[in-house]
Amino acid sequence: MNFYSTNDASHQVGLAEAVLRGLPADNGLYMPETLEALPSSFWRGAKDMPFPELALAMTRQLIKGSVPDPELREIVERACVFDAPLVQVGDRYVLELFHGPTLAFKDFGACFMAQLMGWLIRGNDQKLRILVATSGDTGGAVAAGFFGVPGIEVTILYPEGKVSPLQERQLTTWGGNIRAIAINGVFDDCQALVKQAFLDEQLRTSLQLSSANSINIARLIPQSWYYARAWQQLPEHSAAPVFCVPSGNFGNITGGVFAQRLGLPVHRFLAATNTNDVVPEFLRTGSYRARPSVATLSNAMDVGNPSNVARLHNLLGPSADAWDRILTGDSVSDDDTLATMQLVWKQHDYCLDPHGAVGWHSMDQHRDLWDGYAGILLETAHPAKFAEVVEQALKQPAPTAESLESLKGLEVHKINMDPDFETFKAFLLDNR
Ligand SMILES: *Cc1c(COP(=O)(O)O)cnc(C)c1O
Repeated sequence: MNFYSTNDASHQVGLAEAVLRGLPADNGLYMPETLEALPSSFWRGAKDMPFPELALAMTRQLIKGSVPDPELREIVERACVFDAPLVQVGDRYVLELFHGPTLAFKDFGACFMAQLMGWLIRGNDQKLRILVATSGDTGGAVAAGFFGVPGIEVTILYPEGKVSPLQERQLTTWGGNIRAIAINGVFDDCQALVKQAFLDEQLRTSLQLSSANSINIARLIPQSWYYARAWQQLPEHSAAPVFCVPSGNFGNITGGVFAQRLGLPVHRFLAATNTNDVVPEFLRTGSYRARPSVATLSNAMDVGNPSNVARLHNLLGPSADAWDRILTGDSVSDDDTLATMQLVWKQHDYCLDPHGAVGWHSMDQHRDLWDGYAGILLETAHPAKFAEVVEQALKQPAPTAESLESLKGLEVHKINMDPDFETFKAFLLDNR
């Protein structure tokens, strides 16, 4: 299977280049050359398949022939070590995507990408150096995914004093092949250092550098798995699902469209954003206006120019009318987010995180879309990750999560550094 650039379909590369490079030189995004449905006989038998088996079949179809089967099985089984339970809450289902190591759905992508990269570089004598700049969350998921993968060293840059104490522990307590650098500056300084490293001739020739950013095709593949996992858990003879996806960069929902192309029965998608509503506006007006993001309570979705829109254009077509055939958009204010968290807690004893609450509210606003279907909300993070917002909404302490509590006793290992490229470069060259 080849992967093409959304900017130029004739630019095609194999899986290794697509994953290790991350981004094509023309600034497009990689897409699988073909997206063919698995046969209906497969789906008839898929309802009772163990999750890793289902994930393997979907992955095999998305990267056809790129990794020999026994090895692919090992990669998927290592990545697929946590489940996505479907729970009924009131009149709908909630798919809990927060049972991975950092309690958010991005763990699926990070764990699979880490295992796949580990396999792609097998036998190289040189280590692969992954550089990540993070404003908090992504870095933790990447660290958890890559921890202990042989042949790979991860260097995480984050702004000193600008991530929460909990996030800092998720970045700095690993040891082993994960190193954290606290930059005396802001997130943009971290990102600038990483970008400059990729452009530096000496670093490029003497180290094997790669990134682990969220637009890597390897992170999208496992984001198709849990749509099928949700369907597996619906009752016998259930109507087809309508998925509500809290969205920022639209990578999660792109995984859902992949699953639908593979033949999963999906009636429709509802993309729920916060006030950063570029895509709902495009669906409403037909014109796409990227703009700077504004800060909200569901901050992992504060995106003003969602990168995966390029992929959705390739999948769904160029116009809002084409998108409208399978997708509805909606945007939700912070006030409605808080009120929804409160309401769902009172009525159902279920604590949503702010991102899930955005989705819940959108489902309330668009009942006609899922009336007669199985309405499924993707809950993208554990509420304990957003304890301040939860406390603001519920007027009581947020639920805790064991894995976050246990971080509190661990020792922080970080290197402090000024945002100076020569210092960073010397560090990379000295610590091979
Ligand atoms: C990243 C993130 C989202 C948005 O997902 P996209 O793939 O960017 O649309 C939603 N919720 C949480 C908790 C996230 O971390």
